[in-house]
Amino acid sequence: MQYGPQWRRLVRGFVMKSVLIVDDNMFIRQALRELFERETDFQVCGEAENGREAIEQAEKWHPDLVVLDLSMPVMNGLDAARILKRLMPTVPLILYSAFADRTSELQAKLIGISDLVSKSESVSVLIGKARGLLHPRAA
Ligand SMILES: [Mg+2]
Repeated sequence: MQYGPQWRRLVRGFVMKSVLIVDDNMFIRQALRELFERETDFQVCGEAENGREAIEQAEKWHPDLVVLDLSMPVMNGLDAARILKRLMPTVPLILYSAFADRTSELQAKLIGISDLVSKSESVSVLIGKARGLLHPRAA
């Protein structure tokens, strides 16, 4: 079945959720972009390579979800999350990190980060958690 442009606009407006991808590693950003764009219910609205850029991009694009790396130059994921939570308290944040020690995990919870996903887990875990946060009934 072919979907016309009107239908696609409707899907974009009501079903598709926009994701901001934040990671200092270009290859990870690219992999995450491809991963989310493959899914019919997600679109990537922007990318940022550090926390400060993430805040600028979030204010510009008003994403439905932010996927945040922990370790980044200029401003790390936890510091960015603190500010993002103040600016847009209802937008869920996922910390997508190679390694999170107990202290960072605890801090993430206190800041209000919705979920933590390890980079060593399958990417389907990230998509599943993202979907769970945005479409709670469908997950
Ligand atoms: Mg990093």
